[in-house]
Amino acid sequence: MCRFVLFLIVVSCGLLSAAEKPNIVFLFSDDHALAAISAYGSHLKDAAPTPNLDRIAKEGALFRRSYCTNSICGPSRASILTGKHSHKNGFLDNEMCEFDGSQATFPKGLQAVGYETAIVGKWHLASKPTGFDYWEILPGQGSYYNPDFVQMDGTSKRFEGYCTDIVTDKALEWLKTKRSKDKPFLLMCQHKAPHRNWMPAARHYGLFKDADLPEPATLFDNYEGRSKLVAGQQMSVAEDFHWGHDLLLHGKPVDPRFLGGIPNGEYQRMTEAQKAEFDAAYGPENEKFIADLKAGKLDDVALTKWKYQRYIKNYLRCVRAVDENVGRVLAYLDEAGLSENTIVIYSSDQGFYLGEHGWYDKRWMFEESLSMPFLIRWPGVVRPGGRPEAMIQNIDYAPTFLAAAGAPVPEDIQGRNLLPVLQSEATPEDWRKSIYYAYYGENTHRVPMHDGVRTERHKLMFFPNSREWQLFDLDKDPQEMKSVHDDPAYSTVMSEMMREYVKLRDDYDVVNSVIPTQRMAEDWWRERFQQKQKQTRDVKECRVVFLGDSITQGWEGPGKEAWEANFAGYHPLNLGFSGDRTEHLQWRLKYSELDRVKPKVAVLLIGTNNTGHLQRPAEETVAGIQAVIAELHAKSPETKVILQSVLPRGPNAEDPLRKLNDSINVLAAKLADGKLIRHVDYSGLFLNADGTLPKELMPDLLHLSPAAYQKWAEALKGDIEKSLAE
Ligand code: CA
Repeated sequence: MCRFVLFLIVVSCGLLSAAEKPNIVFLFSDDHALAAISAYGSHLKDAAPTPNLDRIAKEGALFRRSYCTNSICGPSRASILTGKHSHKNGFLDNEMCEFDGSQATFPKGLQAVGYETAIVGKWHLASKPTGFDYWEILPGQGSYYNPDFVQMDGTSKRFEGYCTDIVTDKALEWLKTKRSKDKPFLLMCQHKAPHRNWMPAARHYGLFKDADLPEPATLFDNYEGRSKLVAGQQMSVAEDFHWGHDLLLHGKPVDPRFLGGIPNGEYQRMTEAQKAEFDAAYGPENEKFIADLKAGKLDDVALTKWKYQRYIKNYLRCVRAVDENVGRVLAYLDEAGLSENTIVIYSSDQGFYLGEHGWYDKRWMFEESLSMPFLIRWPGVVRPGGRPEAMIQNIDYAPTFLAAAGAPVPEDIQGRNLLPVLQSEATPEDWRKSIYYAYYGENTHRVPMHDGVRTERHKLMFFPNSREWQLFDLDKDPQEMKSVHDDPAYSTVMSEMMREYVKLRDDYDVVNSVIPTQRMAEDWWRERFQQKQKQTRDVKECRVVFLGDSITQGWEGPGKEAWEANFAGYHPLNLGFSGDRTEHLQWRLKYSELDRVKPKVAVLLIGTNNTGHLQRPAEETVAGIQAVIAELHAKSPETKVILQSVLPRGPNAEDPLRKLNDSINVLAAKLADGKLIRHVDYSGLFLNADGTLPKELMPDLLHLSPAAYQKWAEALKGDIEKSLAE
C-alpha cells in the first residue's frame, strides 16, 4: 500500500524520473476471443489452455467487462492510439479509411516525456506509423508464412518462418539491442494471429488432431427472436467458408456447400519444404473428408460440425503460437530484470465468434465480438489475481498509458484513465455506467451499420437504415437470443436505455449527419454505387451532376422524360440514391471519382431523409449538407453548387416533418456564399396557396409525379444556365 501511495504522489506531481517511469509492453493480437483464453473460462478452457496468458492474469488483473468501440481491426487500433471513438479519429472502417497520422496519439505523448517507442507486427491503418522511434510492420493484413515487413525506409523485406514467431523475434531484438537503455520505453508487439485464414505454425499442425472440441451452445442459432438483419449476414460457419482460404483444402470444392472463390494464399507462399510438411499433416485427413463428401456421408448438420471443428482447431492452433510467444516475452523481461518496472498488457483488437450464433468473424455488438480481452500486470500497482468489475473500453488505453508515464492527457480524449481502477480494483463512484458502440458497415460480411449502448445488465442496439431497435436482458438472456424491445414488461427499461443512448451520443458528440457512412450491406445500393462509379470513370464530359436521394434518383423514373428534354445537353450524371441521408451522400462523394470529371455545376437536394427517417434536429441536417458540399469541393473545388431547399412533405404546413424541413431550409439558405454556393427554393412550384400538396404533383406527399418533374425541370434549367454562364 505504501508503494501505492508513493506512486500516486509521484504521478500527481509529474516528477517521475526516467528510472521510475514504468516501461510499457503492449502485447496485442488480432481477433482473439475471450473464449480462447483459458483464464477467462469458457467451454474451450480445458481443451485449449493458454498458460502464458493465464500467467499475466495470475500475476496481474483480468478485466471481464472490457469492450471495443467498433468491432473491426483498423478502427479498434485507431481508437487505441487516439483514445477516441471512430467518428472522432476518422477511421470508421477497414475498407476505405486511412489513419490520419497527424493527430495526437498516446505514443507521441509518451515520446514527449522521454519515452522511446516502437511497434512491430500488424499495424493495419493504411498510412505509415507516426509517433514511433522504431517500427517494422506487416503490410495490410500481413501473412502467416514467410511474411513481408515494411521497413522504416519504405522498402519491404521478406522473412522466412512463421509470423507470430518472427514478430516476437523482432520485438525481442528491439528490446535487447536496438533501444537506448537509459530511456523508459513503449513496445507494441502486435500479432497477425489468430486472424483469418487461421494458418497454424507447423509445430502445431497435430494439436487437437484426434479431439472433438466442444461446440458453443448457439452453433445452430436459427436467428428467430431478433431482427431479420441478424440472419442476413454472410459470416456463417455453415455457409460462408471458402474451401481453400478458410478450410485449407486444395483445388476446387467438390460439393456446392462451400464457397470456392479464394484459394489458400498462405499455402502458395510456402517453401517446398513447408508445403511438404503441411501436406503430410493435413493430407490424409483431407482425403478422407473428400471421400466422405463424395460418398454423400455428410448431411448439412454433419458438414457444419466438420467445418466448425476444422475452423476452431486451426484458430486455437494459431492461439497456441501467440501464447507461446507471449511466454517468450515474459521470460525475457524476467531474465533482463525488467519485469518489476514494466506494465505488461495483453489485448486484442476485438473479440470474435467461435461458432456462437453459427458465426465466425466480428462486427456485431453482440457480446462475443464487443468484448476485448484485457490482462494487465504491473507489479506494485495492480494486485495479482485482481478481477476488477469496472466497464472499460479501448479508448481508455491511451489516457491510462499517458497517466502512467506522467504525461499530460489531452482534454479531447474520450476515454478514461484506468489508474484509479487499477490501483483500487474497486469501481470508483463516478465511473461510467455504460459504454457506447458504433459499427459503420462494410461490404464484407454484410453486417449493417448499427450503434448502441451497453450497461451492466442491458444492451440496446439501433440499426438506423431500417430504423430497428433491439434490446437484450443480459442477465436473463446472456446469449442474446431474443430481443425484448417490444415486450411491454421491458417498456421502462427500454425508455431508460433510450435515454442512456441519447445521453452517451451527446457526451461523445455523435452527429451522424456528418459521419460519412455507406450502405454496402444493401445489395441494390452497392450495385448502384459500383455502376455509378463506372459511369463516372467512363464519362468523357460531365457539365452538370445531380446529387441527392430518391427524388433525384427519380429523374431516371417518373422524371425521365423531363430530364431528357431539358438536361441531355449538359451530359448530366445522376447520383441520386433512394433513401440516402447527408451522411451517405458524403460517403459517396468521398469515394467518388468526380475529381476526374470536375462538373461545372452540381445540383444538390438532400436532407429530407434525415428528417423522415430519424427526425434529427434541423441544425444537424444542415451540418450534414455543409459536409456534403465540403466533400464535393474537396474533389472538385471549382464546381458551382445549386443548393435546393428540401422539398415540402406531408399533407399541410402543420405537418411536423414539413416543419422540420422548413427549418432546415431557413438555415441552409445561409450556406449561400455569393460565389460557389447558390441557394434556390422551388417549394412554391409544388404547393397550393393554402400550403397543402396537390396529389397530382406529389402522390405520396413526398415523391414527385412526371408532371411535377416537368415543372421542376423547367425552373431548374434556368438556374443551371445561370450558373454555367457565371
Ligand atoms: Ca481484428
